[in-house]
Amino acid sequence: MDIFELTIHELHGKLNARELSSAEATRAMLARIESVEPRVGSFITRTPESALAEAAAADRRIASGDAHVLTGIPLALKDIFLTEGIRTTCGSRMLHNFIPPYSATAWERLRDCGSVLLGKLNQDEFAMGSSNESSAFGVTRNPWDTARIPGGSSGGSASAIAARQATATLGTDTGGSIRQPSSHCGCVGLKPTYGRVSRYGVIAFASSLDQVGPITRDVTDCAIMLGAVAGYDSKDSTSVNTPVPDYTAALTGDIKGLRIGLPKEYYIDGLDRDVQAAMDRAIETYRRLGAEFVEISLPHTDYAVATYYLIATAEASSNLARYDGVRFGHRSEQAEGLIDMMTKSRSEGFGAEVKRRIMLGTYALSSGYYDAYYVKAQKVRTLIMGDFTRAFEDVDVILTPVAPTPAFKIGEMVDDPLQMYLSDIFTIPVNLAGTCAMSVPAGFSASGLPIGLQLIGKPFGEETILRAGHAFEQATEWHTRKAEI
Ligand code: GLN
Repeated sequence: MDIFELTIHELHGKLNARELSSAEATRAMLARIESVEPRVGSFITRTPESALAEAAAADRRIASGDAHVLTGIPLALKDIFLTEGIRTTCGSRMLHNFIPPYSATAWERLRDCGSVLLGKLNQDEFAMGSSNESSAFGVTRNPWDTARIPGGSSGGSASAIAARQATATLGTDTGGSIRQPSSHCGCVGLKPTYGRVSRYGVIAFASSLDQVGPITRDVTDCAIMLGAVAGYDSKDSTSVNTPVPDYTAALTGDIKGLRIGLPKEYYIDGLDRDVQAAMDRAIETYRRLGAEFVEISLPHTDYAVATYYLIATAEASSNLARYDGVRFGHRSEQAEGLIDMMTKSRSEGFGAEVKRRIMLGTYALSSGYYDAYYVKAQKVRTLIMGDFTRAFEDVDVILTPVAPTPAFKIGEMVDDPLQMYLSDIFTIPVNLAGTCAMSVPAGFSASGLPIGLQLIGKPFGEETILRAGHAFEQATEWHTRKAEI
């Protein structure tokens, strides 16, 4: 197998046995990026020189016998993570030349393990989108079919895994942005429980929903990455101080007696036939592995998308106020006076989708509408959380599709934002409830597009969904298929 196809655990085995150096692995990855990047477009910024220096340092660390499983592993990050000295754009013209003075905690933790940074990955602007089409840095293509979107907003993080341009990546998930692109690109992606991973140094979209998580080739790698980035951080007041378990130890393969809930509101008539077929097969597989199925109800599911688009836009309108050409962001050159400068800077710096969300959010928070929209949405959010709390009294995990259809065509939904918003129906409730969920490869459509299944866990139940995902992976071969790119 080519070096660029190896998982973290496979590559670590070779580095540890001195069959391969990190410098060789990094060079192989850089060459691979070079050759497929024109067809995929996963990266906004590449950092080959610092990557080779980091690889050399990793090789010295391995030689000294002090290696972590991530030492010398070539990774890439969504361009939403601040990286000291390396341009960080968040997919926006607003930050096209922003060089952060410090790094995100999640990246610092990976760096402390000795991993190598290949570059920064494309994404929807400020993480708003489901297709990567709102990036100011061009489209990213789905490696399984380059006429299609890779999903979003962490589209580059998923396409880089599917195109074998990085061994593992990090994304963020506010309403599905790790799980949906993972599903569309045939990767494993996990959104941890709110508070599990520090968001310090992660550019904020909707602060009560945003979480950091890995996108990887398999479940073992996902457990390794989560273990490295999870845990309390005094610099993020929302990070929770509970011990980080050994997530790889949870991958026992044994799920006998696991109680899996199937929410009746999710298995609806409009579901794509290939997606439904993949779910039916997954249920069969889990039955064979000894799991028990229970029909459950999440009665407020219908309100989730509307609730999300009030809360997320309200928080975004507040978070994005800082980009005024003074404190942060692009400054217009043609302005006369302060107000004109701010207006022009924001008009020029933000793209259409970001502007739409700022307007929606500002409206929902404005006096006279605040109670009718924002406060009402908060109340419905509590009801949605209650749905999950009740369901988890009876089941260990909930199994659903990640997305109602496989990846759509580039350009197909740009003129219909509502249709695009509705496609997040299965992922959004998890963010509103603050719990954890992952996407695991579960098959292909008739036209060869990947389909993911979603495992939703209890708050801080990452070990259980990882165990369930791993058992499924062991029993199937979907994760071993490779996009021809
Ligand atoms: N697609 C959703 C949105 O557009 C989710 C984005 C995300 O999780 N960052 O808001």
